[in-house]
Amino acid sequence: MTDTDVLIIGAGHNGLTCAAYLAMAGLRVTVVDRRKVAGGAAVTEEFSPGFRNSVAAYTVSLLNPQVIADLKLAEHGLRVVERKAQNFLPASDGSYLLTGEGRTKQSVAKLSPRDADRIDGFARELEDIADVLRQLVLRPPPNMVEGFGVSAVREAFNALGTANVLRKMTLEQQRSLLDLFTRSAGEMLDERFESNLVKALYGFDAIVGNYASPYAAGSAYVMLHHAFGEVNGKKGAWGHAIGGMGAITQAMARAARGYGADIRLQAGVREVIVERDRAAGVVLDNGETVRAKYIASSVNPKLLYTRLVPSGALPPEFFARMKNWRNGSGTFRMNVALSALPSFTALPGPGDHLTAGIILGPSLGYMDRAWQDARDHGWSRKPVVEVLIPSTLDDTLAPAGKHVASLFCQHVAPELPDGKSWDAHRDEVADLMIATVDAYAPGFANSVIGRQILSPLDLERQFGLLGGDIFHGALSLNQLFSARPMLGHADYRGPVRGLYHCGSGAHPGGGVTGAPGHNAARVILGDHRGLFR
Ligand SMILES: Cc1cc2nc3c(=O)[nH]c(=O)nc-3n(C[C@H](O)[C@H](O)[C@H](O)COP(=O)(O)OP(=O)(O)OC[C@H]3O[C@@H](n4cnc5c(N)ncnc54)[C@H](O)[C@@H]3O)c2cc1C
Repeated sequence: MTDTDVLIIGAGHNGLTCAAYLAMAGLRVTVVDRRKVAGGAAVTEEFSPGFRNSVAAYTVSLLNPQVIADLKLAEHGLRVVERKAQNFLPASDGSYLLTGEGRTKQSVAKLSPRDADRIDGFARELEDIADVLRQLVLRPPPNMVEGFGVSAVREAFNALGTANVLRKMTLEQQRSLLDLFTRSAGEMLDERFESNLVKALYGFDAIVGNYASPYAAGSAYVMLHHAFGEVNGKKGAWGHAIGGMGAITQAMARAARGYGADIRLQAGVREVIVERDRAAGVVLDNGETVRAKYIASSVNPKLLYTRLVPSGALPPEFFARMKNWRNGSGTFRMNVALSALPSFTALPGPGDHLTAGIILGPSLGYMDRAWQDARDHGWSRKPVVEVLIPSTLDDTLAPAGKHVASLFCQHVAPELPDGKSWDAHRDEVADLMIATVDAYAPGFANSVIGRQILSPLDLERQFGLLGGDIFHGALSLNQLFSARPMLGHADYRGPVRGLYHCGSGAHPGGGVTGAPGHNAARVILGDHRGLFR
């Protein structure tokens, strides 16, 4: 006897997506989460009296349109609006780059006529490849299997399906794809552009959540990962969910509950029960046991396999590799309540640029030095900060006339050197981040009337993001596609029968996409109906 058909560990957006699809198909589904609110890293909270903001994830693009449609998220209240400008990059010499529909080329031309001639071509190159990869996002990647059993036949067909998608690329596009998966963004951008700000625009995407130099091999893939998305059908655009990122997960929770899923909060999992080599249930923090036919985990795979599943239940080689799963984004996240909008020296006063992702990190060299400094010192003393002021698009977040801003700060060490603790340095680094913004927008520091600070350690404590990793594991080639979370387990099935992966540690990785949740649900349903096993 089981208490439920599927027990999902974690009510982040992927756990909720998986729950909604499975409940829609008629299975009994229970989701458990240790937090007080559903949504994982995509939640909105009041962080200062009267001021609400997305706590961790803060901007929408990657959320898959199929998931939005299938779960009827618009009917459940989700509304996503576009930024009026996409990105604004000020430099300390007074120059700036402002991108967005109808403005990018003109703005680039002021910095470099040569780059203006080239930027559409590069954007198209990325877009063409992102278009092909979009077709691979909602299907399991080919999984490596040993022997010639049913799984091998299934995977042979899967590999053919994937090859069929890739076959549509020209040879030149396939060469670009290889470059983007293996090379550094820095090298590729230096080959194409001369303006520091143009290179920084793309370079920022290569280091978001990636604790590495933009000149590190593999950083080009992280840049591509951020190009997959779209907002209301506009490919590559970034937008804002009215009410903050919590609006996405609240809509997902409503969808899941509407199909009958039970979402239990403040119900952390202490252990996964394994009986006769099969996952049979979980023990909650309060000692309660919940038994299920299938368990799907949306937590970081290293957390699952080194803390929740008894190590004796795992193949030793799997356990050894999982202990070395690479986490650590090097990000520091702040929310600030503002008495007034900032005014940037490079483009003073209000305007569409204040709705954009404002990137403070004016060159690839600056980003490279920021990483090196963080490695030596624990945090970069000249950090890269993205400022987003969602209250310029959404008046539900702050009192009239006041604003909220998200600061997404790159290049702090997940763990500080020399035994230093983030608890001792959190405020000092927060002051540095605010001073960094103030250097571009004098008066900003004085306008801050409330703040919330999340160091990598806080991200781990509050959200279970090991090492503060925003993607549940680095997006490096050895942890991507058929290797996410490990060769042999890219089919959302873990090494313990009945235990599945439905979070960002599975293909296609991190970001608010809903894709791993969607894909895992299909695999679980297939297994339940006896299609594959
Ligand atoms: C600071 C930050 C900024 C980001 N910015 C963006 C952005 O702007 N746009 C974007 O698309 N993506 C962004 N991301 C990435 C994105 O938010 C994540 O990749 C995504 O939300 C992960 O979703 P998930 O459902 O896979 O996992 P999570 O959201 O991490 O959910 C996992 C859930 O499991 C729960 N859990 C953990 N341990 C247990 C346990 N033992 N028992 C029960 N429950 C447990 C957690 O409480 C959590 O609710 C950001 C992430 C961070 C941290």
